[in-house]
Amino acid sequence: DVVTRFAPSPTGFLHIGGARTALFNWLFARHHGGKFLLRIEDTDRARSTDAAIDAILDGMRWLDLDWDGETVFQFARADRHAAVADELLAKGEAYRCYLTQDELAAMRAEAQEKRLPFRVRSPWRDRNDGDAAIPHVIRLRAPQEGAVTISDRVQGDVTVQNAELDDFVLLRSDRTPTYMLSVVVDDNDMGVTHVIRGDDHLNNAFRQVALLRSMNWREPVYAHVPLIHGADGAKLSKRHGALGVDAYRDEMGYLPEAVNNYLLRLGWGHGDDEIISRAQAVEWFDLGHVGRSPSRFDFKKLENLNGHYLREADDARLAALVAPMTAKLISRDLTADDQTLLTKAMAALKPRAKTLHEIADGATFLFLPEPLTFDEKAAAVLTDTPAGMLSSIADRLRALSDWSPESVEAAIREESEAAGVGLGKLAQPLRAALTGRTISPGIFDVLLLLGRDTSLARLDAAHN
Ligand code: GLU
Repeated sequence: DVVTRFAPSPTGFLHIGGARTALFNWLFARHHGGKFLLRIEDTDRARSTDAAIDAILDGMRWLDLDWDGETVFQFARADRHAAVADELLAKGEAYRCYLTQDELAAMRAEAQEKRLPFRVRSPWRDRNDGDAAIPHVIRLRAPQEGAVTISDRVQGDVTVQNAELDDFVLLRSDRTPTYMLSVVVDDNDMGVTHVIRGDDHLNNAFRQVALLRSMNWREPVYAHVPLIHGADGAKLSKRHGALGVDAYRDEMGYLPEAVNNYLLRLGWGHGDDEIISRAQAVEWFDLGHVGRSPSRFDFKKLENLNGHYLREADDARLAALVAPMTAKLISRDLTADDQTLLTKAMAALKPRAKTLHEIADGATFLFLPEPLTFDEKAAAVLTDTPAGMLSSIADRLRALSDWSPESVEAAIREESEAAGVGLGKLAQPLRAALTGRTISPGIFDVLLLLGRDTSLARLDAAHN
């Protein structure tokens, strides 16, 4: 049975690369009907924070990446990690090393002088006269001959000569485990069958394999996914979108399904398909179609996908997401009636929008107090509007016995004919008068959403 895991270090937000790793692991597990586990790698006590843990859990919930079983906290398992180090020691697969910081520094300097890569070759590997009471670290007795080949599902076969590996530390002198030890023990104990993660961990994989072989543990399948780069090909930075997923939600106004679809396509493909539903993703996801070269982050694509998902989304759901943003823009809360109106307006607001913020902004005209203030362009349009045009429209509308789409549209068309002015020429002044702007949903939609009283009041105010 397939078991995957996402193992973030809670030293910052859930960034977009981490979210993609989580998504790939989630999809792979769901595709195979397996389990997707979450392990918080909080062993770096100085840099791990509760706020970062919350941000990671929050981001995963927002993206709807549900995990199976309890969240595993790595630090809580430190005793188990130390016990494995002791077991390796007892089996002769590890040894106590008493090299001092000064000795290590001297070795490093010597390697540098000879222009050789620095690999710890501890003289304690072949000694057994160390005193357990004296401070020491525990190192793995790594193989020095032969080679390790990892058949990586993304990178292909990758081989490293064992001579290039070092006797890395498993347990520090204060008996705290190193990252390398903790990861291997936890993956084993959690029954992880597939390790899918960023290719910045490929080098670690060789050490991890050496370690699990010395424990006679089963080797997981590895899939090291190329990192995400910026649009210019450089390593992803904040400027490129290396932000927390919360920024995609709060600051940029994206829907989680758009972010998931985008992240999926960022490094994985299914023919030319761009829009891939979650159900399709679960059905189709495989490691064979993860690309080997770094993918480039492209905000335009993400925006287009978001536009698509906004148009697909349920109007009441969108209204609930947009309401607080609109409230902020108009500096007051929305009433229950406002919310209802906002939901009704969604069909007119969302066709062109790329983000929730654009919808929120486009909706403000519905809730602004009278008299409306006009932006610069709308004010210019009204200045250029022939005297009498708006009052004549207002009279015609006032005379309507009902305020229906048909009657409102008929009134405006009649006015356009009577005045010998094209509909477009009428629409701009109307739009300016009714919304205070030159961009809005279609003018009939505007009239109907605002309703009779507000429409007439705004028209009257604009031509007086
Ligand atoms: N905690 C590691 C990280 O955040 C991931 C370890 C792993 O996936 O093996 O980069």
